[in-house]
Amino acid sequence: MTETQSHNIAIVGAGPGGYAAAFLAADLGMNVTLIDPELNPGGVCLYRGCIPSKALLHVAKLIEESHQSKDWGIEFAQPKIDLPRLRSWKENVVKKLTGGLGILAKQHKVHYVQGRAAFENSTTLRITKSDGSTETLSFDRIVIATGSRPAIIPALKLDSPRMMDSTGALNLEDIPGTLLVVGGGYIGLELGSVYAALGTRVTVVEMLSGLLPGADRDLVAPLHKRLEKMFDVILLNTTVASVKDVGNGIRANLKGQDGEEQEKVFDRVLVSVGRRPNSEIPGLEKTQVKVGARGFIQVNKQLQTDDPAIYAFGDVVGEPMLAHKASHEGRTAVEAIAGHKVAFEPNAIPAVVFTDPEVAWAGLTETQAQNENREVKVAKFPWAASGRAVTPDRPEGLTKLIIDPESERVVGVGIVGVSAGEMIAEGVLAIEMAALAGDLELTIHPHPTLSETIMESAEVFYGTSTDLYRPKRG
Ligand code: NAD
Repeated sequence: MTETQSHNIAIVGAGPGGYAAAFLAADLGMNVTLIDPELNPGGVCLYRGCIPSKALLHVAKLIEESHQSKDWGIEFAQPKIDLPRLRSWKENVVKKLTGGLGILAKQHKVHYVQGRAAFENSTTLRITKSDGSTETLSFDRIVIATGSRPAIIPALKLDSPRMMDSTGALNLEDIPGTLLVVGGGYIGLELGSVYAALGTRVTVVEMLSGLLPGADRDLVAPLHKRLEKMFDVILLNTTVASVKDVGNGIRANLKGQDGEEQEKVFDRVLVSVGRRPNSEIPGLEKTQVKVGARGFIQVNKQLQTDDPAIYAFGDVVGEPMLAHKASHEGRTAVEAIAGHKVAFEPNAIPAVVFTDPEVAWAGLTETQAQNENREVKVAKFPWAASGRAVTPDRPEGLTKLIIDPESERVVGVGIVGVSAGEMIAEGVLAIEMAALAGDLELTIHPHPTLSETIMESAEVFYGTSTDLYRPKRG
């Protein structure tokens, strides 16, 4: 067991990375101050990100299923939406979880300060508390976990209550008749789905040639097909050249790849074109911390910045901007401060888009392998051959393994379908444990479950799948 060095540390930012790091540091015997402007820990993820969006996506799925159920012999009346009640239910979910974290902070004996921190020097913070008072405190180490905020692009800078970022969209002030979603990434598709289910006619405009540019095309295809039915229009290779508040709506000028332009008026606009790191911390220039070109704070594998007394992790240090990356980095940073021999070097960080169907991937993607000229074998199992996928009438999914042909190691996993976000964890474990396709093939998976599709993909790799018919060659 490594000896733990006890320090007096401050963690600036109480998102999923910051609070996890704080609780672990306290458990390791450190004296921990956790600083955040919110009443309780939680950060963007709990207050205005992952958690409220998933609560609303749950409702969206229920509404969509109530429409589909006609095909199964059950007909429901048109759902009536009580918006204030829906909003307060979502807010209660947030309150329950953030309140719980407030209690946990006390139980872990973390000193939680509601306020904003500014650097006086590498080891001193001036904290402006929520009541306006200030306090100057010194620490052995300071950890920056300030996260990120929605990106704004000049063409879409417009001071109008009809313009929304993800925070505004989650506030759910009304159910607009029409909504323009700028950006077909995680947020645009998740929140676009929520509004479409509530009855809004949604137009999605994506600058690149496909939705979810980071994911393999065969994983995006079933989602795109379903979204085409849910949304009014999906415009690819299109940007928004300008927006103007014309009183009864926002007039947007949409510009296609070939220069073709069209003007349309929308009740509301959601801008979801990426996020920017919150690295403009007052006084940071008084330290030796270096900030790179895209605004990310530079760190090593122990999450230590160029200033030996300062560590940083999460969205503020780089992509992927995901809560689970931040919480793991946070643990590494705290252990490094404690003097343990650690490094943040995962083989796979899973990505999940919580649309319906969900899209999830981990490790190497097929597209990345092609771009890097890396030879891989790809084994795919279509869900139409999975009993469990057909029972809820959702056979459009696909599970695939990306396999190194020499070693037969699983180097990537991709899944599209209901519950793909839950299933990808098995893929991450396989990659981290250096599992061979044969290990997945020989692992008995319960029947009937969607998890079998991972085992069956491995069977496809070896040509032993009994659920798919492949005529023998030659
Ligand atoms: P994103 O990077 O996922 O998607 C942004 C999209 O906007 C891209 O497809 C991009 O090509 C497009 N785009 C950029 N400029 C454009 C323009 N001018 N016109 C039209 N399209 C344009 O970003 P996001 O959806 O804003 O989400 C931000 C980040 O938040 C994500 O990258 C992710 O890290 C995180 N997030 C994760 C989850 C999740 O884990 N399920 C959910 C929401 C957000």
